[in-house]
Amino acid sequence: MEPPEIERLDERTIQQIAAGEVVERPASVVKELVENALDADASRVAVAVEAGGTEGIRVRDDGVGIAADQLEAAVAEHATSKIGTIEDLDRGVSTLGFRGEALYTIGGVSRMTVRSRPRGAETGAEVTIEGGEVGEVRPAGTPEGTTVEVSDLFYNTPARRKFLKRTATEFDHVNTVVTGYALANPDVAVSLEHDGRETFATEGNGDLRSAVLAVYGREVAESMRKVRWTPDGTEVAGIGAGDGDEPVIRVSGLVSHPETTRASREYLTTYVNGRYVTANVLREAVIDAYGGQIAPDRYPFAVLFVEVPPGDVDVNVHPRKLEVRFDREPAVRRAVETATAEALLEHGLIRSTAPRG
Ligand code: ADP
Ligand code: MG
Repeated sequence: MEPPEIERLDERTIQQIAAGEVVERPASVVKELVENALDADASRVAVAVEAGGTEGIRVRDDGVGIAADQLEAAVAEHATSKIGTIEDLDRGVSTLGFRGEALYTIGGVSRMTVRSRPRGAETGAEVTIEGGEVGEVRPAGTPEGTTVEVSDLFYNTPARRKFLKRTATEFDHVNTVVTGYALANPDVAVSLEHDGRETFATEGNGDLRSAVLAVYGREVAESMRKVRWTPDGTEVAGIGAGDGDEPVIRVSGLVSHPETTRASREYLTTYVNGRYVTANVLREAVIDAYGGQIAPDRYPFAVLFVEVPPGDVDVNVHPRKLEVRFDREPAVRRAVETATAEALLEHGLIRSTAPRG
């Protein structure tokens, strides 16, 4: 056999392969669009999906908007308004996005319309991308803020389309993502609609318990106990590096009464420096805090915010995965377990806070 010729892939193919890294399923699209809305300082984010998101996804926000002459840049490859250089990343980013690839890649594997009117502007504009083909920017009547509509996800990548699961399963994933952001941002009114029916809508009044009530219902909201913890038991204003080897870690949020449980771990919602993550180490720390108070194979509800020095956590792991890496994982684990245990102990719900091992 002759040695083969090596050729550079064409743009479309590169885009579709790259899309696989960011967009796995409808929920990944929803995640990117909701993050963009939150980064745009929205006070309302309305998510609506059809057939679990496989047919249609719409995310509408009342954020700062995108100027008409910026719409093309917004959907271009590696184009972002959020960072300039890698130093910005090292200093720690406060926005949820920074890679500048979400709109570009989503537009490569769907039919997508971005419609926006900047706050205070008289008119709006829109652009449509179909399978990576960017159309003309046109004027559009639209309220202040941004609306992104995505339909026929993976229509041009049949192999990926085939991997989509049942509508109910895809919607479960969407629901988990939107719930995660709704609970992380009680000051934003977040709503979710599936096939025209409202799943939940938070008030956006800044109260975490009220957001829990909207998402999980009264029984769960009333069972939640407050967690508020710092290493020496006092409030710290900012998160510093700490004096010795121990980082300054702050833990706050709500955890449920040991009798209010479900058969799935998915109701253990955790955040690191405001970012929604699924870190097993955090979930396990919470579960351990309950000691033997919970029936086997049952899990509590928790909405926990963990804050660590920005330099102690790497968020630049993988765009799709919701994982983080901690420099001092054992210390973080200990802090979360102790924080949860102290909250439960205070309410007489467990007997001791002695961390195990
Ligand atoms: P990133 O979020 O990493 O910057 P995206 O592809 O998600 O990359 O978005 C590209 C750019 O488009 C953003 O940096 C932002 O300037 C703009 N943008 C996207 N969505 C919105 C939105 N909902 N409101 C305002 N601007 C937006
Ligand atoms: Mg983004």
